Amino acid sequence: MEEILEEAQKLSTYCLCDACLGRQFAQVEHGMTNSERGERIRALLHLPEKSPDECWLCEGLTGEIEKFAKLAIEKLKEYEHDTFLVGCRIDEEILRKEREVATPHSESIKREINREVGKIVAQESGKTPEFVHPDIVVIVNTMYDLIELEVNPLFIYGRYRKLVRGIPQTKWYCRKCRGRGCDYCGHTGKMYEESVEELIAHKALELFGAEDESFHGAGREDIDVRMLGNGRPFILELKNPRKRHINLEKLQGEINKYAQTKVTVDDLRYARREEVEELKNARHPKTYRITIAYEGNGKLNEAVNALRGAEIAQRTPTRVSHRRADKVRYRKVMDMRVENADACEATLVVKAEAGTYIKELVTGDDGRTTPSLSELAGMTITVKELDVIEIGDEK
Ligand SMILES: [Zn+2]
Ligand SMILES: [Zn+2]
Repeated sequence: MEEILEEAQKLSTYCLCDACLGRQFAQVEHGMTNSERGERIRALLHLPEKSPDECWLCEGLTGEIEKFAKLAIEKLKEYEHDTFLVGCRIDEEILRKEREVATPHSESIKREINREVGKIVAQESGKTPEFVHPDIVVIVNTMYDLIELEVNPLFIYGRYRKLVRGIPQTKWYCRKCRGRGCDYCGHTGKMYEESVEELIAHKALELFGAEDESFHGAGREDIDVRMLGNGRPFILELKNPRKRHINLEKLQGEINKYAQTKVTVDDLRYARREEVEELKNARHPKTYRITIAYEGNGKLNEAVNALRGAEIAQRTPTRVSHRRADKVRYRKVMDMRVENADACEATLVVKAEAGTYIKELVTGDDGRTTPSLSELAGMTITVKELDVIEIGDEK
C-alpha cells in the first residue's frame, strides 16, 4: 500500500479527477469503481478534489458516461437486438496523456468508458452485454458525442429446390457494365433477370428490414440444371437487419408464395456465422437424373455397368477452365443405373462424389474425362436434361 501511495503522490503534480486517479491503480484492488478508488487515495494523501471538467487527463470525459449511455440507448432502439458490446473512440491527445501517467497497475480509459457505459445500457435497456458475438457493437465517439452502430449480420439456414431451368443460383452481374446498367443488359445490370438468391432473399430483406444480403450455397448447379428432391442447403446472410426475431415459418411461407413455381425453400432456421464455412467445405455426394441422347448401336448397358463404382479422372472441363485451375481430379461414381431407354434416348440415375462433373462423365469432354459413358459405350452421347434429385449426407 505504501508503494501505491508513493506512486500516487508522484501523480499529484497532475490535476486528476477521482476516476482518472483511481484508474491508474485499477489492478491493485477490485470491487470498487475507479472513481471510488481515486476518492480513497486522494483522502489518504490529503489532495484537493478535482471535478472531471478540471481534469488534465480526461478533460471531462468521465463525467459524461451517463450522457453517452443515454445516447447509446436511444440509437440502439433503431435495431432489434438481444446482445450488445460497447466500444469507444477517444481523442489521441487524451491517449497520449494517458501513456504519460500510466502506472503498472493502470486500466485504460477506453476500457473504463466501455464498461461503465455498458453497465448503464444493460441496466436501462435490459439487454445483455456479449463479448464474442454481440448482435450490435455500439461505438461511442467521445469527441463528437456521436453513436455509431455496427450491426452484425444475421444468418438463416435452409434448403432450396429450383423447379425450373434457366435460373442461376446467385446474382450474376452484367459482364460488360458489372452492374451499373448498359444497353447489353437492358439496363438491369444483370445477365439474368432472376436468380435463386434473389427469389429467396427478396422477402427476407423486406421482413428483416435488412440493407443487403449474401447467398452461400453448399455447391451450385448449372443454370440449366434443376435442383429437386431434398433440396440444396444454403445460408442467407442478412446485412444490417432492423429486425432479428422474424418467425421463420412465416418467412418460409412468404418466400414460397413469392418464388412459387420457380423456387421453394424449407427447413429454415437461424444459423451461426461459422456454419457458412462449414457449408462451403461440405462434401455432399449427389444423385442426378440425366436424360441422354445418342445415335447408333453403342453398348449403353455395358458402359453403365462398368462405370458403377468406378473411379474416373476429370481434367477441368473447357466450359469452366476460365475460372478453375486446369488440373486432373479423381472422383468416384457411386452408383449408376438405366431407368429406361429406347433407340435414341435414355434416362439414367447417377450418384457421384462431391465435385464430379456430371455432363463430362457422360460426354467425355473430348477425352478430358476418362473413362466416360460415351467412351465405354462406343458412341457419341449428349446430355439433354439434368436434374439434381438428392443431396446426400457427408461421409
Ligand atoms: Zn479525469
Ligand atoms: Zn450491363
